[in-house]
Formats: sequence, C-alpha cells, structure tokens
Amino acid sequence: MSAALQAIRTAGSTRRYESGQSIFLEGDEAESAFIIEKGAVEIWTGAPGERLVLALLEEGELFGALTILEGIPRAASATAIGETILTVVTDDPLLRRIENTEPVVRLIVNMLLDRLRRARPSSNFNRSSSGLRAIAKMRMESALQHALAVDAFELFYQPVVDLNTGETVGVEALLRWNHPVLGHVNPQEIINLAEETNLIIAIDRWVLRQAIHDLEWLPEPLFMTVNLSGQEIGRLEILDYIDQLIAQSGAVKGRLKLEVTEGIVLHTESAVPWITACQARGYPVVLDDFGTGYSSLSYLLRLSVSILKIDRSFVMALDGGHRATSIIAAIIGMAATMGMTVVAEGIETAAQAELLRTMGCQLGQGYRFARPMPLAALLEALPSSSANDQGMK
Ligand code: C2E
Ligand code: CA
Ligand code: CA
Repeated sequence: MSAALQAIRTAGSTRRYESGQSIFLEGDEAESAFIIEKGAVEIWTGAPGERLVLALLEEGELFGALTILEGIPRAASATAIGETILTVVTDDPLLRRIENTEPVVRLIVNMLLDRLRRARPSSNFNRSSSGLRAIAKMRMESALQHALAVDAFELFYQPVVDLNTGETVGVEALLRWNHPVLGHVNPQEIINLAEETNLIIAIDRWVLRQAIHDLEWLPEPLFMTVNLSGQEIGRLEILDYIDQLIAQSGAVKGRLKLEVTEGIVLHTESAVPWITACQARGYPVVLDDFGTGYSSLSYLLRLSVSILKIDRSFVMALDGGHRATSIIAAIIGMAATMGMTVVAEGIETAAQAELLRTMGCQLGQGYRFARPMPLAALLEALPSSSANDQGMK
C-alpha cells in the first residue's frame, strides 16, 4: 500500500461486510471513502437484477473518493465480494489533504476531476444504456486480456462417439472461462467480444497451444477438433503457427482437425482455397453448424472438407417428424457420395441417437453421451487410459 494511503488509513475505523452485503448504492449521499483491507468489492451500476459491473477492486485499493472530492451523490453502487473488511476514510481528512497540497498538485487534481466530469455522460442517473454497455464491454475486454495473461482459460473436451459401437473416436475442444466474480462465462460471448477486438487472434492461438499440448495425452487413435474463429479463415499464418506447434510437440499430424462454421465459410471469399490448403497441409477440416448457413448442398462440391457436423437444431427437429428426417437423410446421402463423415451434434436422447444411426449417420456428439469435461476427467472416462479403468465405458 502506498505511503499516502497508509496516512489516511490510520485516520479511519474499520467495518466488516458479509459477502454480497451492500456498501453503498448509486444515488446515496457520499460521506466517506474506503480502503479494502481484506476481500474484494464490486462496483456496479444499473438495477440490482441486471447489474453492469464497472470494476472489481481488490485489497489495498481506495474507492468512493471521487464523489467526496466532487461533493456529489454516489455515481455507482458497491457490494462486498466475500467477507470484506474496509477502512472508512471520512471526508474531512481527504478534503483537508487536498486543500493543503501544493497549489500545482491541487490544480492538477482539479483539472483531472474536471476532465472526468466532462468524460462522464451528463448526469449520473440518466447515463445512456449504450454508454453503460460500452463501459461494461471495456471492463470485460480488459478482463479477457487479463485472463489471457494469467492463463485463466481452460479447454474442456466433449467426446464424439461412433453411433454403432458407442465408442469414443474423438473429442471437440471447447473454451471455458471461470471468472472469479461472473462465474462461467458463455464461450460464445467470449468469442463474440474477442472478435470485436484484436483479442481473438490471441485467444485462437491460446486454444491451439493448449489443445496441441493436450493432444499428446489423448490416446491414439482418437482425434481432436478445435474451433477456429472467422478471422482465421483464409489466413495461412494460422497454419504456419499450427505447423510450429506440432513440430515442437510430440503430436501426430492428422489427429488435429479444424472446425469452421458453414456460415463463415459461405461469407468468406478465400475460404475455398484456404480449406484446400488446410487439407493439403495435413489438417482435416470439419464444417461446423452445417445446415444453418443456407448453402445449397451443391456448394459442398466445391469444398474439400472431411467432416460435416449437422447442426443441433436439425437433431432437435427430429423429434418433430418427417421434414427434419428427410433433410438429414439428404445430407447423409450427399456426404456419403462425397466421402465425407457426418457427425450429428446435440444428441440428447437415446431415440435421437438410434434414429440417426439407422439413417446411416456414423458419428454423434451430445449430452446423451457426455458433456464437455476437463482433460483429466475425459482420460479417466476413456477405457484404455489406464489398466484400472479397463472395462469402463
Ligand atoms: P459449437 O462449436 O457448435 O459447440 C457445440 C456446443 O454445443 C458447445 O457449447 C457444447 O457444450 C454444446 N453441446 C454439446 N452437446 C450438447 C447437447 O446435447 N445439448 C445442448 N443443448 N448443447 C450441447 P459451448 O461449449 O457453450 O460453445 C458454444 C460455442 O462457442 C461453440 O459452438 C463455438 O462456436 C464457440 N466456441 C467454443 N469454444 C471455442 C473455441 O475454443 N474457439 C472458438 N473460436 N469458438 C469456440
Ligand atoms: Ca464446433
Ligand atoms: Ca456446432
């Protein structure tokens, strides 16, 4: 803690808060600032049900001081995260110190406050929701950056099974991020936000590094598929990067397959030659979410993909009857004539699995078989992973 904080700290008394207890609410009269001695504090705005988290503060940080200096009501709410102990810094020592500072320092403080005031959208209580969203997004963005820096992401693996034998033949790597405050963040949300910034390239690379590292643990001949974001489609750099990773690892080429979504492939001009290059360089391509991109089946003729993944929405529609059944039958027939393997995703019931099997679909993936899980759990569930586990399904 800085000497300056130490100085105002001695003037204060401490207060203890339970996890989730409110420290102050937006609009409250501002009487004191606080220093976090233990625990953490979430600064948020909006209604309690739909909080927009503006900041997560940790031990040693000062908060609530700005409204005191400005003499205005609280501009945001503060809640304790975990058991939290705060030192209360009353307004007079703070104000007194500011007043007693060197005139130039005081001038700088006032200038900064003035600039902050102007940067902050008009009044505290009718800040536009788009402004709030922008702030929330900025926080999330830096949280993503932080997560990358401290290696907070994880990969979970979901088995892909042979519908005829029930055996696991491969796995799909899926991104997971357990944020200390927000909990599990939806991977699609992470990817969407990262795609709006330049973070996506770094995340794609993190995923590839981790996946190729884990691939060495995956027993042969299981394959692993990795999802690539739209930004990588058409770029050969990513293939060079994978080449390097594979060369540095003991992983065997051909076991790593790249998933790209049909929608992105349709809208990226260079996708067709790029897919051909992937295949030629030893990275089979999986066309993901197939059926949602509204491509004509004949479009497939131009693509040299190895696997078609029928989107979950078609599998769900199977329960509804004939139409979905005939669409899936057409896809399976078409894929067979072109030498492609079909995976049906999102299989949740035994009936769906059985119907797909009788229709000639070779592979399936879904909660019916297994949910995505950490590598260790996957290895434990695989029959061949250790002598003790033999006989396990
Ligand atoms: P996706 O590639 O279509 O992945 C399949 C999603 O379906 C996964 O969601 C998986 O958990 C979920 N799923 C699997 N079986 C079932 C089932 O039986 N029922 C239901 N309702 N869902 C099932 P998840 O992990 O939330 O990922 C969502 C999407 O986020 C992925 O869709 C993919 O587009 C994207 N994503 C995930 N990980 C990565 C990644 O590492 N890189 C990139 N670029 N995108 C990723
Ligand atoms: Ca996928
Ligand atoms: Ca999919």
